[in-house]
Amino acid sequence: MPLVLDDESNIIRIEDLHKSFGSNEVLKGINAQVKTGEVVCVIGPSGSGKSTVLRCLNRLEEATSGNVWIGGHNLSDPKVNINEVRKHVGMVFQHFNLFPNMTVAENIMLAPMQVKKKSRSEAREAALKLLDRVGLSDKADARPSSLSGGQKQRVAIARALAMNPEVMLFDEATSALDPEMVGEVLQVIRDLAKEGMTMILVTHEMGFAREVADRVVFMADGVVTESGNPKDLFENPQTDRLKDFLSKVL
Ligand code: ADP
Ligand code: MG
Repeated sequence: MPLVLDDESNIIRIEDLHKSFGSNEVLKGINAQVKTGEVVCVIGPSGSGKSTVLRCLNRLEEATSGNVWIGGHNLSDPKVNINEVRKHVGMVFQHFNLFPNMTVAENIMLAPMQVKKKSRSEAREAALKLLDRVGLSDKADARPSSLSGGQKQRVAIARALAMNPEVMLFDEATSALDPEMVGEVLQVIRDLAKEGMTMILVTHEMGFAREVADRVVFMADGVVTESGNPKDLFENPQTDRLKDFLSKVL
């Protein structure tokens, strides 16, 4: 099931997305588009709904109303084959969620073997290439528990890439890391950006957002308050909400 772009080269389109948990309306009408090859950074205070938006993009959360289109497939359509759509959308979390009882290579091989029915040798060969790409070729047969946080996160990125996704979602991929390990993970993400990967990154790394993002989206209280190119947004914030946020994080 291929992904198709709309007339404006958007691979993702979010239309009036609402999400409530019980009586708590967390997303209050989000509208956004992401073009193929675009890097979008989402910033905003804790609790503003950033993770919920990302989770709605692969239906880890179901929208209460509104539409999310991924490559022409409407996730709000009950007939959509969500597992097919998910093959195209890789996700990396704050906590790496590696399987501790498997080696690093096996973690990366699992989905290609189970979902894409790759042979073990084919999956291993691809895993080794991915490990090389994230600078961990010597760790293929190590257990996740023997790795540093930065190394674990690079394995998690390699694991997501193993499905050959067209879109990568990162939810605070560096927030759980010791400061000295942030750089190595950001470097992998930077390389992906250079290769033209379409990415949405929820991040607290403002310097990084400014450097890699084609566009920055500022969320507060369940709405997109401002969005624009990084230079404009960081140097010339329009709303008091964003000015206040930037004064605390910059
Ligand atoms: P952010 O990622 O911007 O910090 P989240 O999207 O995680 O914000 O959360 C937004 C709000 O939604 C918070 O108030 C949070 O408590 C609530 N929330 C998130 N997930 C759930 C859930 N599964 N059940 C109930 N409330 C949730
Ligand atoms: Mg979050």
